[in-house]
Amino acid sequence: MIRNKLVVLYGSQTGQSESIATDIHEDGVFRNYDIELFCLKDEGKLFNISEINCAVMVCSTTGDGDPPENARKFIRNLNRKTLPENHLSQLNYALLGLGDSNYSTFCGGPKKLEKSLKKCGAKSYYNSAFADDATDMEDVIEPWLDGLWPAVEKFFSNKKACMSKNEENETTVIESSAENDTNSENNVINFSGVTAAKIQSCNKSDAQSTKQLNDKEITLNSKDTNFNINLQEVSTKFLDMRICSTQVPLEQCLQKGSDELSNLDLSLPCTFPIYLEIEYLENQLPTSGSYQNGTKFPVASGEIIEAKIDNIRQLTSDDALKRTLEFTLISDKMFDFKPGDSFGICCENEDSEVEWLIKRLALEKSADIPAQLSISKNTPKKSVPAFIPLVFTIRQALKTCFEIRSVPKKPFLRALVECTSDPAENRRLQELVSKQGASEYAQHVREANVCILDILATFVSCQPSFCLLAQHLPRLMPRRYSIANSPLGVSNAIKFAFNVTRFDSHPSRTFTRNGVCTGMLEKIFDKKHQKGLDKTVRIFPTKSTGFCLPDDLSRPIVMIGPGTGVAPFVGFLEHRLALKPSGDFVLGESWLFTGCRHQDKDFLYKDTLEDFKSNGALTHLKVAFSRDVTRPQPKYVQDSLKLCSHEMMKLILSSDAVFYICGDARNMAKNVRQCFIDMIAKCKNCSDEEANAGFKKVVSAKRYLEDIWT
Ligand code: NAP
Repeated sequence: MIRNKLVVLYGSQTGQSESIATDIHEDGVFRNYDIELFCLKDEGKLFNISEINCAVMVCSTTGDGDPPENARKFIRNLNRKTLPENHLSQLNYALLGLGDSNYSTFCGGPKKLEKSLKKCGAKSYYNSAFADDATDMEDVIEPWLDGLWPAVEKFFSNKKACMSKNEENETTVIESSAENDTNSENNVINFSGVTAAKIQSCNKSDAQSTKQLNDKEITLNSKDTNFNINLQEVSTKFLDMRICSTQVPLEQCLQKGSDELSNLDLSLPCTFPIYLEIEYLENQLPTSGSYQNGTKFPVASGEIIEAKIDNIRQLTSDDALKRTLEFTLISDKMFDFKPGDSFGICCENEDSEVEWLIKRLALEKSADIPAQLSISKNTPKKSVPAFIPLVFTIRQALKTCFEIRSVPKKPFLRALVECTSDPAENRRLQELVSKQGASEYAQHVREANVCILDILATFVSCQPSFCLLAQHLPRLMPRRYSIANSPLGVSNAIKFAFNVTRFDSHPSRTFTRNGVCTGMLEKIFDKKHQKGLDKTVRIFPTKSTGFCLPDDLSRPIVMIGPGTGVAPFVGFLEHRLALKPSGDFVLGESWLFTGCRHQDKDFLYKDTLEDFKSNGALTHLKVAFSRDVTRPQPKYVQDSLKLCSHEMMKLILSSDAVFYICGDARNMAKNVRQCFIDMIAKCKNCSDEEANAGFKKVVSAKRYLEDIWT
């Protein structure tokens, strides 16, 4: 029996697709669809794809065009030769793919998924869209989401029409007559009655409704008169930290939009009610390892190790442009790994930010009381966010569960409109979520990378509940790092190196910040000098992407990794060195192309690499210094490659050498790829197209492997 309902499916590597799918599911729930949400990995367990009639799919890409780990089995199953061509002829789908055109295969994951669906006879009822992280994902995601619901609506009404026609003809065959519908103009958005009235009256600065909102605020805060003072203080403190840059005109910012916008009638997206309720459980202890339905977080496999920090060192000088740190972690339970593998760190939000948020939300009295979330009675939602422990404290949840630094999406800002009492602030938030204010949202929220802390520091009359935040804040995702050593050295230890991420100042941001995870690690490094090393970090293995040494170590290898991109190659070379005396084979020649800004400031692993060169693990070491002006070329790794083009062409065209590229995806990896294509064209005296085709052959033979990061 084919189920007449809507199913949202996702394949997600870092959680982004999962988060979009969750939003779609939520949206569907409040639009009164009979809707379910599943991960593709749960096919056969929680859902059966051959029983689904109408699906919305969100799938991302990992590695160089691979589907996410949790979608691979699903795709593999669809590609079984034994499946009939009409295996999924009942299935109609809408697909949103996520990818990054910095990688050579753009959106490879969702494209493979779509190919497999089509091969099995599934039909698309709404044009697939592929969002590009290299430009701006939202440019694609937003219009696609805008057109999704009208397309779903049309699908079901066509189906209904088709069914009644079939009934007239006294036939029981149910078939979809859906057509592709890309017309997002049909997207009429309905406001829920109360909200629309409130918004309209706010737009007109209606005194009565403003008063109502103010009353609401007074009821909330009047018991604690100190609170308003504290709130003012903390917000001012935040705003004082604002560093202004000249790039964005100050007369236009997060707080104040263009005059033109302030005179327009705004069309706003609909808002959804708060469906979560919090109950405090004075006598229970928080459960950090126990989640809804037995789900495991933050890693599905649950394989988390508490690793001790054994050593930390700074690899750059104090006056280097970027600070690079190397951590060594040890554990008796260390997972198996190969050089080239990466691993995840479960990071936590900064205490000062969590503390600020607690104060700002007036939750000081309840922040440390064990609590649990449940679903409000009168909403169609069925479950609370799975990544929040069954019993938690608000402080623990804000510290370990939510990405409080994430850029608030429009539905979140839309919900905040409802709890903002000051008319000017209320209007400005409306502008930012409105259709008319799309470019201001892009400029002052998305591109400015502001987070809920900035929003609450700027819009001081906005007083959301914890439940509203819990409903909208995404899950705090673990961060991935490359392992920079070999298990043949010390098997229970892993090393990794990273630059501390620092965010440039921006007028819309209200406080200075480092990356969540690198900032957390830097703090540990800074404290190390005061307190010694008694800290642990929670880590877990990630699946190998195939970025590893060839089994046959007599094959030549060429490693290209400027900056921290050199990290996995330190592991490669340590491994080769460890195997060198024991093997009855000759190590293949090895080349390392690396680069930094200044020889004496940020040449990472200088001594280690020179040692590898002298003990024979490394045959050729080529280093480019990009900002040592007194030095002659090469500036970048690709300049070094060109200087060795004769040897490189011999290795790429007439040997079985493996090329490895690690580091920045946006520029370096692209430039290096182009450099190889240019060198092939020159060497073979052929056209760019022919050189490109030759290069692609090397890639498909898995002789050109990338581990690149945006
Ligand atoms: P970086 O310090 O920013 O740059 C290293 C060198 O590369 C500098 O000399 C820089 O020169 C140069 N460079 C700049 N543009 C280039 C281009 N188009 N082509 C070639 N070289 C170029 O490097 P990084 O910050 O370490 O970045 C490495 C990347 O690897 C990051 O994206 C990082 O996320 C990633 N990665 C991370 C890990 C990890 O475990 N977290 C592991 C491996 C790699 P100028 O600045 O003078 O132009």
